[in-house]
Amino acid sequence: MDPAEDANYRRQVVDGAKPIYENGLVQFGEGNVSVRVKKADEFFTTPSQNDYETFNVEDVVYMKFDGTQLSKGRPASSEYRLHVAIYQARSKVNCVIHTHSPYASMLSVAKMEIPVLFEEMVIFLGGPIRLAKYAQSGTDELGKNALEAMGEGNVCLLTNHGIVACGRDVQKTIKAALLVEKMAQIYVGANLLGHVEVVPEASLPKFLEYFKGLSSTTSLKKT
Ligand SMILES: [Zn+2]
Repeated sequence: MDPAEDANYRRQVVDGAKPIYENGLVQFGEGNVSVRVKKADEFFTTPSQNDYETFNVEDVVYMKFDGTQLSKGRPASSEYRLHVAIYQARSKVNCVIHTHSPYASMLSVAKMEIPVLFEEMVIFLGGPIRLAKYAQSGTDELGKNALEAMGEGNVCLLTNHGIVACGRDVQKTIKAALLVEKMAQIYVGANLLGHVEVVPEASLPKFLEYFKGLSSTTSLKKT
């Protein structure tokens, strides 16, 4: 790969990893960020046991979808299979972010899905946040279950684990991962307060059109 292109992909992974760490979505060694290489079955990703505090471009791992490592040095997290499953299923996805963000993980343990609480959930995520069936980390099953739960949307909760988000680019995927955690906090809080009011069903189609134009990563057509 051309060195400038290589540097650009590495920078994008770092740019995706810093905000999820700074916003408390991951701690040392948790979660991962990847960026797809255009027109190739390859991607760049965070390494195994990532220290987000010191993480920089030289720590980024370059891999093929089949698991062959193309960069020297640090290995990728075994969770790379989750990322590959999403890239293979969705050609529009250019970034995948997996976190163990606390409130969303709490709901994944309680096995609670998040209904549409704010209109922005439809605009940026595609609708409610569903829960993927349990699968062990590092297995192909985890990716399969995640895709099933995502449906036409860009995110899901992973039972007893955390969340996964995908998007057309790094910025949109960061936004999705942050929004999942914010909605999880609001949902937990509203449940504790004793009432959850969801956005009326009749409001959803308009915002779903925005999603199709702005953020959708499936072949959803504009109607
Ligand atoms: Zn994980």
